[in-house]
Amino acid sequence: MTMSIRIEKSGALKPKPDEDKLGFGSYFTDHMFLMNYDTDKGWHDARIVPYAPLQFDPAAMVFHYGQAIFEGLKAFRTNDGRILLFRPDKNAQRFNRSCERLCMPEIDEETFVEAIRAIVRVEADWVPAKAGASLYIRPFIIATEPALGVRPSKSYLFAVILSPVGNYYGEGLKPVNIRVESDFVRAVRGGIGNAKTAANYVGGLKAQEIAAADNCAQVLWLDGVERKYIEEVGSMNVFFKINGKVITPALNGSILDGVTRQSVIRLLEEWGIPVVEAKIAIDDVLAAVKDGTLEEAFGTGTAAVISAVGGLHANGSMHVINRGEIGELTSRLYDAITGIQAGKLEDSLGWTVDCG
Ligand SMILES: *Cc1c(COP(=O)(O)O)cnc(C)c1O
Repeated sequence: MTMSIRIEKSGALKPKPDEDKLGFGSYFTDHMFLMNYDTDKGWHDARIVPYAPLQFDPAAMVFHYGQAIFEGLKAFRTNDGRILLFRPDKNAQRFNRSCERLCMPEIDEETFVEAIRAIVRVEADWVPAKAGASLYIRPFIIATEPALGVRPSKSYLFAVILSPVGNYYGEGLKPVNIRVESDFVRAVRGGIGNAKTAANYVGGLKAQEIAAADNCAQVLWLDGVERKYIEEVGSMNVFFKINGKVITPALNGSILDGVTRQSVIRLLEEWGIPVVEAKIAIDDVLAAVKDGTLEEAFGTGTAAVISAVGGLHANGSMHVINRGEIGELTSRLYDAITGIQAGKLEDSLGWTVDCG
């Protein structure tokens, strides 16, 4: 499918923010990509228009029954001035898996990636040049039909907005503490945990507040049935290095299939470092911290890329990992992925896509 995109340029461009003070998701660019769906016409009216508030009927189904899916990826400026996306095809595939689960219309992969390339090209001046900074890309889809019957909506809006973001870590990778949550759960098998949907986030806010009160940056989620097996860390996938072997929870239906997770597994295989996907009991991890065989722990996700875990807060006490320092493999993975993303290291796996 080749899509024609109408482009309406903004007459009043915003001043660009200071690249040293971007933070995450605070600034938005001058334009956005929009496309509508209804059951008669399918996807239509692809357009890039000035960034502005959207208007919906108060009965729009997204406000009532939560049909909302999003994605997250980044565009990077290389030293020679090109703009690269990191594995956008993976986001397109996951977007469609989420759509399928939530009874929302899929968008073919090429159209999804082309929409992103087109809006990033229009906003090329917004891609930060500063090392570690990038342009965060947030595609999303919501149900727009005004109706209160409980059933899938007949109309949808797909949008892509962009936000210049700073290096997640002001100065270097700082390990964070994680609170093991043994009461609330994020998702259950058969639910929507493996879809990237808004509903999974609202369910997690309460535990996030409790973790913050315990001086922890994130929640470690356990399985919804036995509260025994590790699922994810906040909105990141999680890895442990125990006795030289890397282990991460196997995708079981309630865990989100992260692009960064896939990339870490692939790199470890390339490097000849054993990596297994398995069921991991929290008690085994805490025992490994205690007997010193747990060498490193880290979370993976687009926003932070790799986030070192410095301690696990469980049963009222803090279990410190690797003396609270960042591990060797953790920083090697961070350097490799961010290096490929920014075009500084050779992309031998063909992960980056030029926006030009
Ligand atoms: C987005 C997300 C991740 C990380 O996925 P990436 O594709 O690596 O950014 C992990 N867990 C949850 C719950 C997420 O929503």
